Amino acid sequence: MKIKVALVRCDSYDRDKVKAAITKLIDALGGFEAIFAERKACGVTLPAISSDSPLILKPNLLAKAPPEKAVATHPEVFRAVGELLRERGYSSITYGDSPGNPVLSTEKTADGCGIKAVADELGIPVGDFGSGREVEFPQARASKRFVLCNEIADNPYGVINLCKMKTHQLERITGATKNSFGCVFGMNKAAFHARFATPETFARVIADLNRLVVPRLHIMDGVVAMEGNGPASGEPVEMNVILASLDPVALDATFCHLIDLNADLVPTQLACMEAGVGEGREEEISVIAIDVPMIPDGKELTLDEVAAKCGNRYFDVQRGKDYRGRFRVLGPFAKLLEKKPHIVRGRCVGCGICVETCPLEDKAILMGPDRKPVYDYSKCIKCYCCQEMCPEKAISVKKSLVARISDRRWGV
Ligand code: SF4
Ligand code: SF4
Repeated sequence: MKIKVALVRCDSYDRDKVKAAITKLIDALGGFEAIFAERKACGVTLPAISSDSPLILKPNLLAKAPPEKAVATHPEVFRAVGELLRERGYSSITYGDSPGNPVLSTEKTADGCGIKAVADELGIPVGDFGSGREVEFPQARASKRFVLCNEIADNPYGVINLCKMKTHQLERITGATKNSFGCVFGMNKAAFHARFATPETFARVIADLNRLVVPRLHIMDGVVAMEGNGPASGEPVEMNVILASLDPVALDATFCHLIDLNADLVPTQLACMEAGVGEGREEEISVIAIDVPMIPDGKELTLDEVAAKCGNRYFDVQRGKDYRGRFRVLGPFAKLLEKKPHIVRGRCVGCGICVETCPLEDKAILMGPDRKPVYDYSKCIKCYCCQEMCPEKAISVKKSLVARISDRRWGV
Protein backbone atom coordinates (compact mmCIF):
# COMPACT_ATOMS: atom_id res chain seq x y z
CA MET A 1 0.00 0.00 0.00
CA LYS A 2 1.23 3.48 -0.82
CA ILE A 3 2.32 5.96 1.88
CA LYS A 4 -0.29 8.64 2.40
CA VAL A 5 0.23 12.36 2.54
CA ALA A 6 -2.88 14.53 3.01
CA LEU A 7 -2.91 17.98 1.43
CA VAL A 8 -5.52 20.67 1.94
CA ARG A 9 -5.75 23.98 0.11
CA CYS A 10 -5.91 26.84 2.60
CA ASP A 11 -5.51 30.40 1.33
CA SER A 12 -5.18 32.34 4.60
CA TYR A 13 -4.42 32.13 8.29
CA ASP A 14 -8.01 32.96 9.14
CA ARG A 15 -8.63 31.07 12.39
CA ASP A 16 -11.74 29.18 11.25
CA LYS A 17 -10.26 28.30 7.86
CA VAL A 18 -7.09 26.87 9.35
CA LYS A 19 -9.02 24.85 11.91
CA ALA A 20 -11.38 23.48 9.25
CA ALA A 21 -8.40 22.61 7.05
CA ILE A 22 -6.51 20.79 9.80
CA THR A 23 -9.66 18.95 10.91
CA LYS A 24 -9.97 17.60 7.35
CA LEU A 25 -6.31 16.57 7.30
CA ILE A 26 -6.66 14.63 10.56
CA ASP A 27 -9.85 12.96 9.29
CA ALA A 28 -8.15 12.06 6.00
CA LEU A 29 -5.45 10.23 7.96
CA GLY A 30 -8.09 8.28 9.92
CA GLY A 31 -8.53 10.52 13.01
CA PHE A 32 -6.37 10.85 16.10
CA GLU A 33 -7.23 7.37 17.37
CA ALA A 34 -5.82 5.74 14.24
CA ILE A 35 -2.88 8.14 14.07
CA PHE A 36 -1.95 7.43 17.70
CA ALA A 37 -2.42 3.64 17.53
CA GLU A 38 0.55 1.39 18.26
CA ARG A 39 2.67 1.00 15.12
CA LYS A 40 6.16 0.24 13.97
CA ALA A 41 8.34 3.00 12.55
CA CYS A 42 12.10 3.51 12.21
CA GLY A 43 12.75 0.05 13.69
CA VAL A 44 10.87 0.70 16.94
CA THR A 45 7.36 -0.01 18.17
CA LEU A 46 5.63 3.23 18.98
CA PRO A 47 3.24 2.65 21.89
CA ALA A 48 -0.43 3.63 21.59
CA ILE A 49 -1.22 7.12 22.81
CA SER A 50 -4.26 7.48 25.03
CA SER A 51 -6.07 10.63 26.10
CA ASP A 52 -3.88 11.03 29.20
CA SER A 53 -0.54 10.24 27.52
CA PRO A 54 1.89 13.19 27.38
CA LEU A 55 2.08 14.91 23.99
CA ILE A 56 4.56 17.55 22.86
CA LEU A 57 3.68 20.06 20.15
CA LYS A 58 6.92 20.95 18.41
CA PRO A 59 6.59 23.97 16.16
CA ASN A 60 9.54 25.43 14.29
CA LEU A 61 10.73 28.21 16.63
CA LEU A 62 14.02 28.92 14.90
CA ALA A 63 14.10 32.60 15.83
CA LYS A 64 12.04 35.36 17.40
CA ALA A 65 10.14 36.64 14.36
CA PRO A 66 6.54 37.75 13.85
CA PRO A 67 4.25 35.33 11.96
CA GLU A 68 4.22 37.38 8.74
CA LYS A 69 7.97 36.76 8.28
CA ALA A 70 7.28 33.02 7.79
CA VAL A 71 10.28 32.05 9.94
CA ALA A 72 8.29 30.04 12.49
CA THR A 73 5.21 27.84 12.34
CA HIS A 74 2.17 30.11 12.26
CA PRO A 75 0.34 30.47 15.61
CA GLU A 76 -3.01 29.64 13.97
CA VAL A 77 -1.67 26.25 12.88
CA PHE A 78 -0.48 25.69 16.44
CA ARG A 79 -3.88 26.81 17.78
CA ALA A 80 -5.87 24.53 15.48
CA VAL A 81 -3.87 21.43 16.45
CA GLY A 82 -3.94 22.34 20.17
CA GLU A 83 -7.70 22.97 20.12
CA LEU A 84 -8.47 19.77 18.22
CA LEU A 85 -6.43 17.70 20.65
CA ARG A 86 -8.16 19.33 23.61
CA GLU A 87 -11.62 18.81 22.05
CA ARG A 88 -10.83 15.11 21.48
CA GLY A 89 -9.89 14.76 25.16
CA TYR A 90 -6.06 14.81 25.10
CA SER A 91 -5.25 16.45 28.38
CA SER A 92 -1.50 16.32 28.87
CA ILE A 93 0.00 18.61 26.23
CA THR A 94 3.17 20.71 26.35
CA TYR A 95 5.03 22.55 23.62
CA GLY A 96 8.50 23.76 22.74
CA ASP A 97 11.55 23.80 20.53
CA SER A 98 15.19 24.66 21.12
CA PRO A 99 15.68 27.96 19.27
CA GLY A 100 18.68 28.65 17.06
CA ASN A 101 19.97 31.35 19.40
CA PRO A 102 20.97 29.50 22.59
CA VAL A 103 20.86 32.72 24.61
CA LEU A 104 17.11 33.08 24.02
CA SER A 105 14.71 30.88 25.99
CA THR A 106 12.01 28.84 24.27
CA GLU A 107 9.35 30.97 25.96
CA LYS A 108 10.84 34.27 24.80
CA THR A 109 11.20 32.97 21.25
CA ALA A 110 7.65 31.60 21.28
CA ASP A 111 6.48 34.98 22.55
CA GLY A 112 8.15 36.74 19.64
CA CYS A 113 6.57 34.29 17.17
CA GLY A 114 3.04 34.72 18.56
CA ILE A 115 2.85 31.13 19.75
CA LYS A 116 3.15 31.77 23.48
CA ALA A 117 -0.01 33.89 23.51
CA VAL A 118 -1.98 31.10 21.82
CA ALA A 119 -0.48 28.42 24.06
CA ASP A 120 -1.39 30.49 27.14
CA GLU A 121 -4.98 30.86 25.88
CA LEU A 122 -5.22 27.10 25.40
CA GLY A 123 -3.57 26.35 28.75
CA ILE A 124 -0.67 24.51 27.07
CA PRO A 125 2.53 25.03 29.12
CA VAL A 126 6.02 25.20 27.66
CA GLY A 127 7.96 21.95 28.25
CA ASP A 128 11.46 21.60 29.63
CA PHE A 129 13.50 22.82 26.67
CA GLY A 130 15.77 24.88 28.95
CA SER A 131 17.89 21.92 30.03
CA GLY A 132 19.10 18.78 28.35
CA ARG A 133 20.78 15.45 28.89
CA GLU A 134 22.89 13.00 26.98
CA VAL A 135 21.14 10.10 25.27
CA GLU A 136 23.12 7.20 23.78
CA PHE A 137 22.10 5.93 20.37
CA PRO A 138 24.43 3.02 19.50
CA GLN A 139 22.63 2.13 16.27
CA ALA A 140 23.27 5.62 14.83
CA ARG A 141 25.18 6.06 11.55
CA ALA A 142 26.69 9.47 12.25
CA SER A 143 26.42 10.41 15.92
CA LYS A 144 26.09 7.80 18.64
CA ARG A 145 25.12 10.33 21.27
CA PHE A 146 22.84 13.33 21.36
CA VAL A 147 22.17 15.91 24.02
CA LEU A 148 18.39 16.22 23.83
CA CYS A 149 16.14 18.74 25.54
CA ASN A 150 14.76 17.01 28.64
CA GLU A 151 11.16 17.27 27.47
CA ILE A 152 12.05 15.26 24.35
CA ALA A 153 14.43 12.85 26.10
CA ASP A 154 11.59 11.95 28.49
CA ASN A 155 9.07 11.35 25.71
CA PRO A 156 10.73 10.72 22.33
CA TYR A 157 7.63 9.02 20.85
CA GLY A 158 5.07 11.60 21.94
CA VAL A 159 5.94 14.47 19.59
CA ILE A 160 3.65 16.12 17.06
CA ASN A 161 5.90 17.82 14.52
CA LEU A 162 4.48 21.19 13.42
CA CYS A 163 7.04 22.10 10.78
CA LYS A 164 7.30 25.01 8.39
CA MET A 165 7.78 24.92 4.61
CA LYS A 166 11.07 26.78 4.05
CA THR A 167 14.30 26.84 2.13
CA HIS A 168 17.62 26.05 3.82
CA GLN A 169 21.10 27.05 2.67
CA LEU A 170 22.82 23.82 3.70
CA GLU A 171 20.11 21.23 2.97
CA ARG A 172 18.09 23.14 0.31
CA ILE A 173 14.84 22.69 2.27
CA THR A 174 13.80 22.50 5.87
CA GLY A 175 10.52 20.70 6.27
CA ALA A 176 9.52 17.69 8.33
CA THR A 177 12.77 15.77 8.91
CA LYS A 178 14.98 18.81 9.49
CA ASN A 179 12.61 20.22 12.14
CA SER A 180 13.85 17.46 14.46
CA PHE A 181 17.09 19.43 14.95
CA GLY A 182 15.31 21.63 17.48
CA CYS A 183 15.11 18.58 19.78
CA VAL A 184 18.86 18.99 20.35
CA PHE A 185 19.59 21.10 23.39
CA GLY A 186 21.09 24.60 23.11
CA MET A 187 24.71 25.01 22.02
CA ASN A 188 24.98 21.33 21.13
CA LYS A 189 23.37 22.22 17.81
CA ALA A 190 26.36 24.40 16.91
CA ALA A 191 28.72 21.59 17.89
CA PHE A 192 26.97 19.29 15.40
CA HIS A 193 27.38 21.88 12.66
CA ALA A 194 31.11 22.08 13.35
CA ARG A 195 31.55 18.28 13.54
CA PHE A 196 29.37 17.39 10.58
CA ALA A 197 30.08 20.28 8.27
CA THR A 198 29.00 19.04 4.84
CA PRO A 199 25.36 18.81 3.71
CA GLU A 200 25.73 15.03 3.43
CA THR A 201 27.26 14.37 6.87
CA PHE A 202 24.88 16.80 8.56
CA ALA A 203 21.97 15.06 6.80
CA ARG A 204 23.08 11.77 8.34
CA VAL A 205 22.81 13.39 11.78
CA ILE A 206 19.27 14.46 10.92
CA ALA A 207 18.48 10.90 9.84
CA ASP A 208 19.82 9.53 13.15
CA LEU A 209 17.78 12.05 15.07
CA ASN A 210 14.64 11.03 13.20
CA ARG A 211 15.19 7.44 14.33
CA LEU A 212 15.85 8.45 17.93
CA VAL A 213 12.93 10.88 18.22
CA VAL A 214 10.00 9.54 16.22
CA PRO A 215 7.07 11.98 16.03
CA ARG A 216 3.57 10.51 15.79
CA LEU A 217 2.32 12.98 13.23
CA HIS A 218 3.89 15.60 10.97
CA ILE A 219 1.92 18.69 9.95
CA MET A 220 3.55 21.17 7.56
CA ASP A 221 2.52 24.82 7.50
CA GLY A 222 2.75 25.91 3.88
CA VAL A 223 0.02 28.54 3.74
CA VAL A 224 2.81 31.10 3.53
CA ALA A 225 6.19 29.43 2.99
CA MET A 226 9.69 30.91 2.85
CA GLU A 227 11.69 30.97 -0.38
CA GLY A 228 15.17 32.27 -1.22
CA ASN A 229 17.53 33.03 1.63
CA GLY A 230 15.93 30.65 4.17
CA PRO A 231 15.50 29.43 6.81
CA ALA A 232 15.39 32.86 8.51
CA SER A 233 16.16 35.59 5.99
CA GLY A 234 14.14 34.52 2.96
CA GLU A 235 10.98 35.97 1.50
CA PRO A 236 7.47 34.85 2.44
CA VAL A 237 5.61 33.30 -0.49
CA GLU A 238 2.04 32.06 -0.62
CA MET A 239 1.80 28.34 -1.27
CA ASN A 240 -1.73 28.03 0.18
CA VAL A 241 -1.38 24.47 1.45
CA ILE A 242 -1.15 22.55 4.69
CA LEU A 243 0.09 18.97 4.56
CA ALA A 244 0.11 16.08 7.01
CA SER A 245 1.52 12.56 7.10
CA LEU A 246 2.78 9.89 9.46
CA ASP A 247 5.88 9.72 7.26
CA PRO A 248 8.21 12.76 7.29
CA VAL A 249 10.17 11.64 4.23
CA ALA A 250 7.02 11.27 2.12
CA LEU A 251 5.89 14.66 3.37
CA ASP A 252 9.19 16.32 2.36
CA ALA A 253 9.09 14.51 -1.00
CA THR A 254 5.69 16.12 -1.61
CA PHE A 255 7.10 19.53 -0.61
CA CYS A 256 9.96 19.02 -3.12
CA HIS A 257 7.50 18.18 -5.88
CA LEU A 258 5.38 21.24 -5.11
CA ILE A 259 8.40 23.50 -5.65
CA ASP A 260 9.83 21.57 -8.61
CA LEU A 261 12.97 20.54 -6.73
CA ASN A 262 14.55 17.17 -7.53
CA ALA A 263 14.33 15.35 -4.17
CA ASP A 264 17.41 13.31 -5.13
CA LEU A 265 19.43 16.49 -4.62
CA VAL A 266 18.16 16.98 -1.06
CA PRO A 267 20.72 15.42 1.30
CA THR A 268 18.24 14.92 4.15
CA GLN A 269 15.92 12.97 1.83
CA LEU A 270 18.73 10.66 0.71
CA ALA A 271 20.08 10.12 4.23
CA CYS A 272 16.65 9.53 5.75
CA MET A 273 15.70 7.03 3.07
CA GLU A 274 18.98 5.19 3.46
CA ALA A 275 18.45 5.01 7.22
CA GLY A 276 14.89 3.71 6.85
CA VAL A 277 13.20 6.80 8.32
CA GLY A 278 10.54 6.82 5.62
CA GLU A 279 9.58 6.56 1.98
CA GLY A 280 10.61 9.21 -0.53
CA ARG A 281 10.09 7.40 -3.85
CA GLU A 282 7.39 9.16 -5.76
CA GLU A 283 5.78 5.94 -7.07
CA GLU A 284 5.24 4.82 -3.45
CA ILE A 285 3.45 8.00 -2.27
CA SER A 286 -0.10 9.09 -2.88
CA VAL A 287 -1.52 12.44 -1.90
CA ILE A 288 -5.07 12.71 -0.57
CA ALA A 289 -6.39 15.96 -2.01
CA ILE A 290 -8.79 18.12 -0.03
CA ASP A 291 -10.40 21.37 -1.21
CA VAL A 292 -8.30 21.27 -4.39
CA PRO A 293 -10.23 22.93 -7.23
CA MET A 294 -11.77 20.49 -9.75
CA ILE A 295 -10.68 17.46 -7.70
CA PRO A 296 -13.21 15.51 -5.60
CA ASP A 297 -12.25 15.54 -1.91
CA GLY A 298 -10.39 12.41 -0.89
CA LYS A 299 -9.15 11.58 -4.39
CA GLU A 300 -5.62 10.20 -4.32
CA LEU A 301 -3.19 11.98 -6.63
CA THR A 302 0.35 11.26 -7.75
CA LEU A 303 3.05 13.77 -6.81
CA ASP A 304 3.11 15.06 -10.40
CA GLU A 305 -0.67 15.56 -10.36
CA VAL A 306 -0.60 17.42 -7.06
CA ALA A 307 2.31 19.60 -8.23
CA ALA A 308 0.36 20.49 -11.37
CA LYS A 309 -2.61 21.59 -9.26
CA CYS A 310 -0.96 23.20 -6.22
CA GLY A 311 2.73 23.67 -7.03
CA ASN A 312 4.90 26.71 -7.75
CA ARG A 313 7.72 25.90 -10.14
CA TYR A 314 9.17 29.40 -9.76
CA PHE A 315 9.66 28.98 -6.01
CA ASP A 316 13.15 30.31 -5.29
CA VAL A 317 15.20 27.31 -4.07
CA GLN A 318 18.65 25.90 -4.88
CA ARG A 319 17.95 23.59 -7.81
CA GLY A 320 21.49 23.36 -9.21
CA LYS A 321 23.73 20.39 -8.54
CA ASP A 322 25.80 21.66 -5.64
CA TYR A 323 29.54 21.15 -6.03
CA ARG A 324 29.81 20.21 -2.35
CA GLY A 325 27.70 17.18 -3.07
CA ARG A 326 27.89 14.97 -6.09
CA PHE A 327 29.88 17.51 -8.17
CA ARG A 328 32.93 17.52 -5.92
CA VAL A 329 34.75 15.82 -8.80
CA LEU A 330 34.71 19.12 -10.68
CA GLY A 331 37.85 20.10 -8.76
CA PRO A 332 39.02 23.62 -9.65
CA PHE A 333 35.88 24.20 -11.76
CA ALA A 334 33.79 23.78 -8.63
CA LYS A 335 34.44 27.49 -8.02
CA LEU A 336 31.99 28.16 -10.85
CA LEU A 337 29.21 26.87 -8.60
CA GLU A 338 30.48 28.45 -5.39
CA LYS A 339 28.19 30.00 -2.79
CA LYS A 340 29.23 31.77 0.37
CA PRO A 341 27.71 33.95 3.10
CA HIS A 342 28.11 37.67 2.66
CA ILE A 343 27.37 40.69 4.88
CA VAL A 344 24.90 43.27 3.57
CA ARG A 345 26.61 46.10 5.43
CA GLY A 346 23.77 48.59 5.08
CA ARG A 347 21.46 46.33 7.02
CA CYS A 348 23.93 45.20 9.70
CA VAL A 349 23.36 46.71 13.14
CA GLY A 350 26.54 45.26 14.64
CA CYS A 351 24.77 43.06 17.21
CA GLY A 352 27.43 40.31 16.95
CA ILE A 353 24.96 37.41 17.01
CA CYS A 354 26.56 35.98 13.86
CA VAL A 355 29.94 35.81 15.60
CA GLU A 356 28.44 34.15 18.69
CA THR A 357 26.62 31.64 16.49
CA CYS A 358 29.61 30.54 14.40
CA PRO A 359 30.22 26.98 15.68
CA LEU A 360 33.99 26.99 15.01
CA GLU A 361 36.31 27.39 17.96
CA ASP A 362 38.56 29.47 15.73
CA LYS A 363 35.74 31.70 14.45
CA ALA A 364 35.39 32.24 10.70
CA ILE A 365 33.58 35.54 11.31
CA LEU A 366 34.77 38.31 13.61
CA MET A 367 33.73 41.89 14.31
CA GLY A 368 35.79 44.38 12.32
CA PRO A 369 37.01 47.77 13.55
CA ASP A 370 33.78 49.41 12.33
CA ARG A 371 31.67 47.01 14.49
CA LYS A 372 30.53 45.15 11.38
CA PRO A 373 31.51 41.49 10.93
CA VAL A 374 34.12 40.27 8.49
CA TYR A 375 34.50 36.73 7.14
CA ASP A 376 37.64 34.65 6.92
CA TYR A 377 36.53 32.40 4.09
CA SER A 378 39.62 30.22 4.45
CA LYS A 379 38.16 28.96 7.74
CA CYS A 380 34.44 29.06 6.90
CA ILE A 381 32.80 25.62 6.58
CA LYS A 382 29.65 27.14 4.97
CA CYS A 383 27.29 25.83 7.61
CA TYR A 384 25.24 29.08 7.36
CA CYS A 385 24.51 29.20 11.12
CA CYS A 386 25.44 32.90 11.05
CA GLN A 387 23.01 33.56 8.21
CA GLU A 388 20.25 31.59 9.98
CA MET A 389 20.54 33.60 13.14
CA CYS A 390 21.06 37.16 11.87
CA PRO A 391 17.97 39.02 13.10
CA GLU A 392 18.33 41.79 10.49
CA LYS A 393 18.51 39.71 7.28
CA ALA A 394 21.96 41.25 6.90
CA ILE A 395 23.62 38.04 5.71
CA SER A 396 22.83 36.92 2.21
CA VAL A 397 24.24 34.05 0.23
CA LYS A 398 26.46 35.20 -2.58
CA LYS A 399 26.27 32.86 -5.54
CA SER A 400 28.38 32.73 -8.68
CA LEU A 401 26.59 33.47 -11.94
CA VAL A 402 26.62 29.78 -12.89
CA ALA A 403 25.09 28.83 -9.53
CA ARG A 404 22.38 31.46 -10.00
CA ILE A 405 21.55 30.19 -13.47
CA SER A 406 21.44 26.57 -12.36
CA ASP A 407 19.07 27.39 -9.46
CA ARG A 408 16.54 29.33 -11.51
CA ARG A 409 13.38 28.31 -13.33
CA TRP A 410 13.00 30.79 -16.14
CA GLY A 411 9.46 31.98 -16.88
CA VAL A 412 9.15 33.32 -20.43
S1 SF4 B 1 25.38 40.52 10.29
FE1 SF4 B 1 23.45 40.31 11.39
S2 SF4 B 1 23.96 39.08 13.18
FE2 SF4 B 1 25.90 39.84 12.34
S3 SF4 B 1 26.30 41.72 13.46
FE3 SF4 B 1 25.22 42.31 11.60
S4 SF4 B 1 23.05 42.36 12.18
FE4 SF4 B 1 24.13 41.25 13.81
S1 SF4 C 1 31.16 32.05 9.32
FE1 SF4 C 1 29.02 31.44 9.17
S2 SF4 C 1 28.95 29.93 7.53
FE2 SF4 C 1 31.10 30.19 8.11
S3 SF4 C 1 31.48 28.57 9.60
FE3 SF4 C 1 30.89 30.40 10.77
S4 SF4 C 1 28.67 30.24 11.01
FE4 SF4 C 1 29.27 28.78 9.43
